[in-house]
Amino acid sequence: MPMFSKGIVLSQHKEPAFSKPVLRFVHPQTDSLKLDLKQIAVQTEQDAIIELARLARIVDERDGKLLYRKLRKSQGKAKIIIADAVDDEPYVSSRIGPLLQMGEEVADGLELCCTVAGCQEKRIMVYKMITDLETRIPHSIQKIKVMRVRGGYPAYQQKRLSHLGDMPRLVVGVGALIHLARAVYQQKQQSTVFLTVAGNCVACPMNLEVSLGMTVMQVLERCGLTQQPTRVVCGGSMTGVSILDTENTLITHTTRAILAVRENQRDAHYTCIGCGRCEQVCPSGLNPMYIHRLVQTNYYAGLPLFDPQLCIGCGTCSYICPSKLEVATSVATAKAYALGKVPGEEEEDTPEAGASSPSSTRPEPNAPLEESPPTGEAPSVPEEEADAQDDDLLKDLPNAE
Ligand code: SF4
Ligand code: SF4
Repeated sequence: MPMFSKGIVLSQHKEPAFSKPVLRFVHPQTDSLKLDLKQIAVQTEQDAIIELARLARIVDERDGKLLYRKLRKSQGKAKIIIADAVDDEPYVSSRIGPLLQMGEEVADGLELCCTVAGCQEKRIMVYKMITDLETRIPHSIQKIKVMRVRGGYPAYQQKRLSHLGDMPRLVVGVGALIHLARAVYQQKQQSTVFLTVAGNCVACPMNLEVSLGMTVMQVLERCGLTQQPTRVVCGGSMTGVSILDTENTLITHTTRAILAVRENQRDAHYTCIGCGRCEQVCPSGLNPMYIHRLVQTNYYAGLPLFDPQLCIGCGTCSYICPSKLEVATSVATAKAYALGKVPGEEEEDTPEAGASSPSSTRPEPNAPLEESPPTGEAPSVPEEEADAQDDDLLKDLPNAE
């Protein structure tokens, strides 16, 4: 398949959330969950780190995968470890914010990954095309070189990392690295995520460290609303999903932002004017316009010609569309169809990034937020069975494979 690298440069609007300190908004009970080190009976330092990541139930926010599995795959193989602090979506600064404030923990997490992989090389990856930052991004953090990733959204990584060629690498989100350092040095289970709260309805935009399982409404109330939003987006401004039930939508491992906005343009649905911009910017080389038309007319038999399964869900086609059409949503529907899922049931089968099911059970206040993690209990099941349980957990996580 040819490697496309189109994309567009987006206005970022990181401020005022970015320049404020990252505040904590956590349940005291879950925040104090500790790992039981008596469970760890391993031979090597590498295995101990992987086991702690497993017990701490750390999920990499960049792909929704369990970190211990990524570590196990990279053990003795990866030649370079990269901390992903790229916030390429407008408003979102939930990686670079914690990176600048908690650089020591990020560096510790990187060092632990290097120990597992048996390599020395490590880098921090930060987006370059951000213009409204008042804070200077340093060339190195804790003596680790910071790479400034160029290029338009979302094709930057393909371009920037191409110089690494086929070098085996492990790329881990900044949040997961912080939680890995806390698991190893403080025996803390992951019970929080980092996210940005922003939008023109938010009184006090900021980056927060929030307990898993809190509701979107609890987080919005923490930051305050100046006016009633017409749209609340959970996830990123480009890849997130609009939610209606803020009272019952829960913060998950991959929630990177909550945006509360008041807008009128999106409510006016014009017709496609055939300008071709969506095709020009699509990083997967698709023609979203035709796919949109086929989905709108329910002519699904014609979809295989247009390869909707190659869509990466970046949302660029909807962003660029002058008619404000939800082209990306149509392509997502077409992709679900191409992958053998019935249109209309795709949300159940493939949970969107950053949003839990509206029917998720809301936890009792001050109660442990997750039932499944056996915090501190000795593993009483064989490894294969434990892996099967991990598969079940992965199924419940957004963006899980
Ligand atoms: S959402 Fe899919 S179709 Fe639209 S620009 Fe991104 S990859 Fe292309
Ligand atoms: S960008 Fe919008 S108006 Fe232009 S061709 Fe694509 S769908 Fe039609």
